[in-house]
Amino acid sequence: MRRICLDYGHGGDDSGASVTDDWGLIQEKNIVLEIGKMVESFLIHDRKNYTVTRNGDYFLSLEDRIKIANGEKKDANGIKKKADCFISIHVDFFASQRAHGSTIFHFPGSRGGQELAEKIDNRFSARKIKRRGIKVSDDFIDNDDEKYIKVVAETKPPAVLIETGFISNDGDRRILRTHAGIYQTAWCIYEGLMDYYGAEN
Ligand SMILES: [Zn+2]
Repeated sequence: MRRICLDYGHGGDDSGASVTDDWGLIQEKNIVLEIGKMVESFLIHDRKNYTVTRNGDYFLSLEDRIKIANGEKKDANGIKKKADCFISIHVDFFASQRAHGSTIFHFPGSRGGQELAEKIDNRFSARKIKRRGIKVSDDFIDNDDEKYIKVVAETKPPAVLIETGFISNDGDRRILRTHAGIYQTAWCIYEGLMDYYGAEN
């Protein structure tokens, strides 16, 4: 059975991007955990094998995330096993309102990574989620997530890093603040994963 590794960016003292608006403080580390837990609920329902790099609000080094995916370190359940694919979930930030929509990064030349990115991006497109499309990790220029993009280069299984939208954009943030928005984003990631594996499971 295939083993999926979900990685939720940031955690603990590393909050990732954050914004305070009329509804209060919103932090990347919490949004990505919410989206990820929703993806997990779909995987559990479907009896799929998966692991996560972090399953709560605590700091986890980049190296540990990579080692868990590569089967070189025990996951939170004490299991040490290489994953077959790796999905890192983040939320984007930019100084201006103009930037909005999802972006999916993969390592240049990784066929598996590119295919996984395409499957998920197609699902975002089908559900009319605003998208900036697929990019390779060399194009990554966001300071906040700069170190995290390494996960797509140093994990052995095909890997993608998804920036699910801009916390800095009012429209994107409205989606990321609602249960319906979190559900829709998680569902697309799940559907894309299932497309990637096809009937083989
Ligand atoms: Zn991030």
